[in-house]
Amino acid sequence: MAHVLVIGSGPSGLSAALTLQQAGVSVTVATTHHSSLQSANLTGDLYGVSAKDGEALYRQGVEQARQVGITMVDGEITGLTKSAHTFTAAGQQPIDASAVILATGKPHRYDLPNFAKHSHRLHLRAEEHAFVYRHQMVGVVGHGPYAFAQVNLLTRHARTVTLFTNGDDLLRFPPNLSINRYPIRLFDAPDSPRTLLFENGAKLNVDALFFADRTADAADLCAGVGLSCENGIPPCTAQGETPQKGLFVAGECAGLPFDLHELLYHGHKVGLATLQFLKNNTI
Ligand SMILES: Cc1cc2nc3c(=O)[nH]c(=O)nc-3n(C[C@H](O)[C@H](O)[C@H](O)COP(=O)(O)OP(=O)(O)OC[C@H]3O[C@@H](n4cnc5c(N)ncnc54)[C@H](O)[C@@H]3O)c2cc1C
Repeated sequence: MAHVLVIGSGPSGLSAALTLQQAGVSVTVATTHHSSLQSANLTGDLYGVSAKDGEALYRQGVEQARQVGITMVDGEITGLTKSAHTFTAAGQQPIDASAVILATGKPHRYDLPNFAKHSHRLHLRAEEHAFVYRHQMVGVVGHGPYAFAQVNLLTRHARTVTLFTNGDDLLRFPPNLSINRYPIRLFDAPDSPRTLLFENGAKLNVDALFFADRTADAADLCAGVGLSCENGIPPCTAQGETPQKGLFVAGECAGLPFDLHELLYHGHKVGLATLQFLKNNTI
């Protein structure tokens, strides 16, 4: 049976997953359980839903998905690749799927000291830029699964990779990796190389700095399958279809506004478009 992977368990991801499940498609939802809905105070203006907070509604949605037989996988998806007709999502365990729906929520903002000013000199994705720094010295800022994935991609190309981290939650990073735990005070990049100034007064130059102190978002996952995004939003139709066949986008990560009714409807439409894709491709 065809298998669809939905990345995100917010209203749009689960709405798409439920539409597909009802049509008899096997669906897996991968999630970090950090939905914007959990911060919302709802006024009870949704049809059939009495007033409750977003956290309760989020949990109810996840429970409902489980009860109808949708497989839920907890943990971050850190990368997406495609070979022939199969997508592979990287995470704690790789997940293969015939189609993927990205429902990862709002694109990330970067607000570390001075980073915004020099954001054009900062790389966000090793998938797009690693090869440019063959045999050079690069740095990665971050400490979670996404930083781990970026380090692994960069060590294949760069001469040295330094991880800049606050030291929390360190995963099993490659043994040849230098780890720098001093807090960064400033990032300065008038030209190449890029300079990092630390709280203790030390300075370090790198040829490139990759910012990975976050969860992989839709644009990061699109980069793995050769799709460029504008302002973090993947190119897509109103039904969430992207130029990469079999890859769909739903909800806030597709640029939809902050409105639960719209997000639920969009998830449903994207679910139907995915179903059509599966039928056309009779996988
Ligand atoms: C403070 C606040 C108040 C709000 N109040 C309201 C309100 O009153 N009414 C209203 O209509 N809307 C409100 N909203 C907005 C609403 O909550 C969001 O618009 C909605 O949750 C977006 O839905 P989504 O499905 O697109 O993404 P989200 O609900 O943000 O879900 C994103 C999902 O993707 C998962 N994810 C992301 N990256 C990865 C990854 N790499 N691997 C695995 N999983 C991943 C997350 O764990 C999460 O499950 C509010 C938002 C906030 C922040």
